[in-house]
Parts: sequence; structure tokens; C-alpha cells
Amino acid sequence: MKRALITGISGQDGSYLAEFLLGLGYEVYGLVRREPQTMRWLQPIGDRLELLYGDLRDDTSLRIAFRKAWPDEVYNLAGQVFVPTSWECPAETFDINVGGLARLLAIVGREKPDTRVYQASSSEMFGNVDGLCNEKTLLSPASPYGTSKMAAHRLVQVYRDCGLFVVGGILFNHESPRRGLEMVTRKITRAAAGWVKGDRTKLKLGNLQARRDWGFAGDYIKAIHAMLQRPIPKDYVVGTGESHSVAEFVTLVLAELHRSVGNGNFTGPIEDYVEVDPSLVRPNEIHDLRADSRLAAKELGWSPHVNLGGLVKMMVESDLAGVREYLQEPVTVA
Ligand code: GDP
Repeated sequence: MKRALITGISGQDGSYLAEFLLGLGYEVYGLVRREPQTMRWLQPIGDRLELLYGDLRDDTSLRIAFRKAWPDEVYNLAGQVFVPTSWECPAETFDINVGGLARLLAIVGREKPDTRVYQASSSEMFGNVDGLCNEKTLLSPASPYGTSKMAAHRLVQVYRDCGLFVVGGILFNHESPRRGLEMVTRKITRAAAGWVKGDRTKLKLGNLQARRDWGFAGDYIKAIHAMLQRPIPKDYVVGTGESHSVAEFVTLVLAELHRSVGNGNFTGPIEDYVEVDPSLVRPNEIHDLRADSRLAAKELGWSPHVNLGGLVKMMVESDLAGVREYLQEPVTVA
């Protein structure tokens, strides 16, 4: 039975990956910084996991956790992932996102060099690129977050050259009902639940024209796993290949609300529901990101199964489930 250690196990990707690996028969260990009771997504599988205390900033805690897990595979999914926070706390972002990987790789190299390591690299490393991005596209990040991910990605390559099996998965934006509330998709679907309750306070957003390649996180963790099963370690780009604007995402959410809770509502222009708050517009915005995942398709046999419409439906349904009890009429989602 293979043993996997997942950092960031309580987050969106970590919880989907843990479920997936348990389904494959893995023994799954998760690094956590807090009391497991607060970890909503892990509750259904909590008794099948071994949670270990550890912090990416604390070498000793990592070493102890690593020795307990003694993993065949490490998935480094923990990190400071929010771009605006990386401007407020650039040094902490580096300490977690770069220092954390550096600490992990040093431990792997010293203790068990046959352990395979997955590093969560990011499309934010590309910065403003005109067109599709693949594994060879120049990295030109536009934020401390993107720069931290680029530094970690380079570290992956350096340790790989020294003989470790380390891969960087360059995942484009991937969302789900488990996405953090600060990210734009979930911010919108969470607000949509309020609109259904009759709340007409407009949601404040930043740049509505920014475009992202949004896919479903549940699809992406399969690519993550597949990368560690290859004979040769390599980095892969993972995304849908399509980008859509934030405004389009809001329009799709309204269409989904119209379809599911209906009654002639939610037909209005998006301006009836959202407004631009200039303080949320990012000065160093990345305007458009789109993945060229042909290598992942060819070598990992990976392709996304959930399209943007399916993703919106899933996220809206999940956030609506949270408000049903407040409604006079039950919301029937078709
Ligand atoms: P990112 O691509 O990793 O930065 O993921 P986000 O979900 O945080 O942002 C995606 C895009 O949505 C970026 O271009 C943001 O500038 C844009 N955006 C517009 N309004 C908002 C907002 O209110 N919150 C967030 N998080 N992003 C916003």
C-alpha cells in the first residue's frame, strides 16, 4: 500500500486529492496547522486519514511529520495563495511558498530520496502572456505570489537535476464549492446565495474584464496524481484552454439562478448585482490566462470533464444549499 503525505490537506485541492488517493487504496497522511474539527471538507473522511501537526515554516515539525508518514509520495499543496495578500505580506508569502518547499526537499534528500514530490506551481508564474501558455512559455510573474511560485518552480528543477523525482504541476485556476471565499468565483457564488434570499446589496468586485482559465479542482487532482506515476519526472501545464471574463462568470451565475430558482428573476444586467470597487482593481493585473495542456493530454491522458457551465452549476447549487433554510419557499434546483 502506497503512503502519501499531503501538505494543505484541509484545503480545496488537498481534500479532493485525499479522497481520490483513499479510493486508490493509499495510506494518506495530512499536514495540518490547526485542530482537525474545524476542517469541514475532511470530516467525511477524517477517520481514514492520519493528520500530523506541521507548519511549512517550521523545519522540525516537517521532519517529524515526514518520519511518521515515511511517504512514497509528497504532495505540497499548502501555501499562501491569494495574490492581494502576497502584496501585503510578501516575505511571509516567500517563507511559506518557497521556504516550505526548500525545507521539504532538503528533508526528502536527506531522509528518503526515493520519495516522489509534487509541487503546486501556478499559472500566475506566467504573468501577462499574449496567448496560450505551455511548459516552455517564459515565466514573467506580476506579483509577489507569482514570483514565489516561480522561485519554488525553479527549485523543483534544480533538485530534479540532482536526481530527486520532483515535478511542478502548473495548474491554471481551478475552482469548486470548496474554493476559498476570497477567490473571485466563490465570492460570486456565495453572494448569489444572498441574492436568492432577496439581498440586493451589490457585490463589490475589482476588474470585471480580467479573464481566467477556470476548471474544476476535482478534475485537476487526477492530473496531479498522474504526474507522480510517470517514469520520468517532468513539469506539466494543466487547464481547459479557454478563458472567460469575471463579467462572463457573473452572467453564467445569474443564468443558473434564473434556471434553478426562476420566477422571472435574475434576468437583469449584471450591473443590477455587482459594482466595481476601484480598491479591488489590482494595479498589476494579469489580464488573461489560458493553458495549452497538450503535453498533459498526451503523456498523462488528462482532459477536463467538467466545463465552465457545469462548474458554475455545481458551485451555485452548493452555496444555495446553505441558504435554503432561510427561505420561505424551498429552492428547487433543477
Ligand atoms: P487569481 O487568478 O489566482 O488571482 O484568482 P482570483 O480568483 O483571486 O482572481 C481572478 C481574477 O478575478 C483576477 O484577475 C482578479 O483581479 C479578478 N477579480 C475581479 N474582482 C475580484 C474580486 O473581488 N476578488 C478577487 N479575488 N478577484 C477579483
